[in-house]
Amino acid sequence: MVAAIFGLVSVVALHASGSSDRPGKEPAWVKNIPVEKIIEWRRYIHQNPELSYEELFTSEYVTSVLESFGNIEVIWPTPTSVVGILRGGKAGSTVAFRADTDALPVPEETGLPFASVNEGVSHACGHDVHTAMLLGTAATLSSMQKQIKGTVCFIFQHAEEQSPGGALDIIQTGVLDEVKAFFGLHIGPGQVPGAVGILPDGPASTASDGFYLIIQGKGSHGSMPHLGIDPIVTGAEIVTALQTIVSRNVTPGEMAVISVGKFQSGNAPNVIPDRALLAGTVRTISEPTRHLLKERIRTVIDNIALAHGATYSLEYTSGYPAMQNDPALNSLARASAIKILGSGMVTDAPRMTASEDFARYRKIAPSCYFNLSTGPGVTNHHPAFNPDESSLINGVKAEVQIILDYLDQN
Ligand code: MN
Repeated sequence: MVAAIFGLVSVVALHASGSSDRPGKEPAWVKNIPVEKIIEWRRYIHQNPELSYEELFTSEYVTSVLESFGNIEVIWPTPTSVVGILRGGKAGSTVAFRADTDALPVPEETGLPFASVNEGVSHACGHDVHTAMLLGTAATLSSMQKQIKGTVCFIFQHAEEQSPGGALDIIQTGVLDEVKAFFGLHIGPGQVPGAVGILPDGPASTASDGFYLIIQGKGSHGSMPHLGIDPIVTGAEIVTALQTIVSRNVTPGEMAVISVGKFQSGNAPNVIPDRALLAGTVRTISEPTRHLLKERIRTVIDNIALAHGATYSLEYTSGYPAMQNDPALNSLARASAIKILGSGMVTDAPRMTASEDFARYRKIAPSCYFNLSTGPGVTNHHPAFNPDESSLINGVKAEVQIILDYLDQN
């Protein structure tokens, strides 16, 4: 297994060194990347996954690895998260790189020899890989501490998968108040293992909100609609009218989605039921539009219900905001990735449709999120999600180069 993995690593290395604007010589720190250890850490974390807000074992493991480097201060801002702080030998700015550590309630179906031992729980989103790569980055930077200009925070964040998300908890403790820039990445399937995908400037993911609506009408015989208040007709009008919010109220060209994914009512063809249940999801890329949609959805529902004489209850849930990639940090990430991996291994990635609580760190300082391809295969959250381990080394190279370049330039 290990031989096969390192076989793939060398294929990637050959591919990268073949690209045209790749510098001839790799920087000296590349030799300090603990390649075999990173795979070992990844497999150990993979085998012992923990659900959101329960990442105690993982945090203890991360702590023991960070402490083994000898010059990283380790703090626990919350009961299941870890921040490692490396103070460089020269004065400078403070930069943070974030990995998330939680797993999903998904039974693993990879058949790997190091598959999850926690029944029904697995690292189907690849946060084991994020954690192992950031440990590899910490190891590499720790080995060159004297040369580093400034401070590096390695954030091992809990509970990305469960709203309101762990980022909010860590931010509220104040331990990251001095950070001047945040970086993070997500792995996912792609054609070339180890290729970096740079997300767009500005909105890099969507805000994910939702609503649950109960329309209360008045039941009647299907042949006597005038004696009832029909919640199905009311609901149908609401569903149709909601679609006009995106087409009539949102600035043309700005991405926004309202989808009603649930509409349940009634039991028999000749009975007008009492009530209807509707639920939907709302995706936006800017805060003003996010607020506009929330307002308009309530107004449309309120007025159509009133017109029909129905009453209603509406629960509106706010998920993670949209990530906003700072253009300057985004171009730094692109340049750093090209410098260390070659232009053939750096591509443009489309905006993520998934939401991410990395978006929260922007409250403190500008941020940048990017993608790392882990080869062809099923998507994240699939029970058989199985990232190609050969891609991890490129992830670490990109992380280290970005951190060094940021601190050099700021
Ligand atoms: Mn994830």
